Amino acid sequence: MNLGEKMKPILEARLAELKEDVTEIDQTLREPDSQDFEERATENEGDEVLEDLGNAALTEIAQIETALSRIEDGTYGECATCGAEIAPARIEAVPHAAQCIKCAS
Ligand SMILES: [Zn+2]
Repeated sequence: MNLGEKMKPILEARLAELKEDVTEIDQTLREPDSQDFEERATENEGDEVLEDLGNAALTEIAQIETALSRIEDGTYGECATCGAEIAPARIEAVPHAAQCIKCAS
């Protein structure tokens, strides 16, 4: 089994999890604000935190989708910048890593 095949289910599971989070965040953000002014101010702050979380999740979703398409075309595990093999320890820590540790730092 090659590295891509091994990591694919992990990436897919993470992708499903993130998509669920984003849906949940989206629903919370869509809930109508309360009428009370002070409560609304607190909610707005909470909304900003949620938006940040949502944006971070969307970024990771995009990275995972890129990793999955690289598994499809057989370039998964190669650094997108220099073409070197990404260290297996790095792949295990960051399955959607698109760059070797040297290029990423
Ligand atoms: Zn590199």
